[in-house]
Amino acid sequence: MFLLWRMPGGYLYPHSPALCRGVEETAIRAATPIAGRSSYRSDSVSPVLVKARFTTGSSRWQPRRGGPAVTLTVVVVASLAALLYCDYSRTNYFVGKPKSRPGNLEPLAYNPFTLIHREELSPTTSLFRFRVEYPYRSKDMEDLAERIQAAGLWSVDLKDHFVQTCRSYTPIAWSVPASSSRDGEPKAYMDLMVKLYPHGSVSRFVHATRIGDAVEIRGPILTWQYTPNKHKHIVMISGGTGVAPMYQLITRILGTEDGCDQTQMTLVYANRSEQDIPLYNELTELQRKYPDRLNVHFVVDKASPDTGLVKAQHEGLLSRELIASVLPSLPPHSTVGSGSDISPLSANPIMVLVSGPPGMMQLVCGNKFIDSSQGEVTGILGQLGLTNRNVFKL
Ligand SMILES: Cc1cc2nc3c(=O)[nH]c(=O)nc-3n(C[C@H](O)[C@H](O)[C@H](O)COP(=O)(O)OP(=O)(O)OC[C@H]3O[C@@H](n4cnc5c(N)ncnc54)[C@H](O)[C@@H]3O)c2cc1C
Repeated sequence: MFLLWRMPGGYLYPHSPALCRGVEETAIRAATPIAGRSSYRSDSVSPVLVKARFTTGSSRWQPRRGGPAVTLTVVVVASLAALLYCDYSRTNYFVGKPKSRPGNLEPLAYNPFTLIHREELSPTTSLFRFRVEYPYRSKDMEDLAERIQAAGLWSVDLKDHFVQTCRSYTPIAWSVPASSSRDGEPKAYMDLMVKLYPHGSVSRFVHATRIGDAVEIRGPILTWQYTPNKHKHIVMISGGTGVAPMYQLITRILGTEDGCDQTQMTLVYANRSEQDIPLYNELTELQRKYPDRLNVHFVVDKASPDTGLVKAQHEGLLSRELIASVLPSLPPHSTVGSGSDISPLSANPIMVLVSGPPGMMQLVCGNKFIDSSQGEVTGILGQLGLTNRNVFKL
């Protein structure tokens, strides 16, 4: 909270002992805050005031005429306060109007992103397309965002600005405008796939958003570092919208233009029913286009009683048999994760990424800890002998 006190000689700032000497106690009690809590009562003693009293070093404050040094100090302190205020309000730690940079991704600051399109992907999941503005207002911020995006899997935080709750979401598409698009209309966008939880806080907020509304988003945030060709084969096990990070990674690996990245991928993708498979067409098409690189196994809890399995190949909960059958030939159990399976080609030939609802995580590999640390690999992957060396929980 910043307090400026109006005195006959001008405005004084209370943190400086020298300045406080020019302030009568009665004036301090009547001081009105110009920023911060409006519930300040003139008969209460604020922490700022207590600090001011202790820093005077004198039981009786003596009026003192200000000279150039005082003026200079006032200017410096006020400038610092203004700078701090701007920084805090921009990063939203401070209650105030954020200095917005619409459509700009910044890792530490929320900026408003306008919803330009939405589409239902399944009865509970929709795609939300937000406008991204280019060029960024700050070149440094654009560079930083691009470096994080290039480093691997990334997500964003989206905030419900009514109750100030935020949740992470993984963009499934991110476009940058072609350098030729200089017609003034931004062509860049970011797609989020969000499942609606009937009692969820942020997912309900997102689903209530209408075209033209803006939501506060910050990012990118690195969730898993990816190095091309570090792993010969990446196995992805996902449930529901847990497919979002997998899809981001698959499109990134297959989209590398130089063809240098030869990583092979297997996706095991579990959903409740065949009506409930977001990105089914996109994944099927990618598998058709890259049969040697991508293998997708669709799993549903229950096949339709009328039509049976049409889209999916497997019915039921994820099982040890199913997962063991899709893992590329593992080294003998005794050597997995012990370090003895290191080959000259690759230090870690197989990586298993897992992402999904808590029940599925528990079954497959165990949940992450509350502080988001990985914890031990348990569940089916633990039984198969895999450890944190080969498994990453997203
Ligand atoms: C890195 C990362 C990336 C992610 N990417 C995505 C993504 O791309 N897409 C996506 O959809 N999700 C994603 N998630 C999950 C997402 O962050 C949220 O956890 C999810 O949207 C639920 O948030 P929420 O605020 O709506 O629900 P919450 O309020 O957190 O509630 C979570 C659960 O508790 C239940 N619940 C809440 N309140 C009550 C109540 N009073 N009584 C009973 N039950 C209740 C809800 O129904 C829900 O099942 C990601 C998570 C991480 C960590």
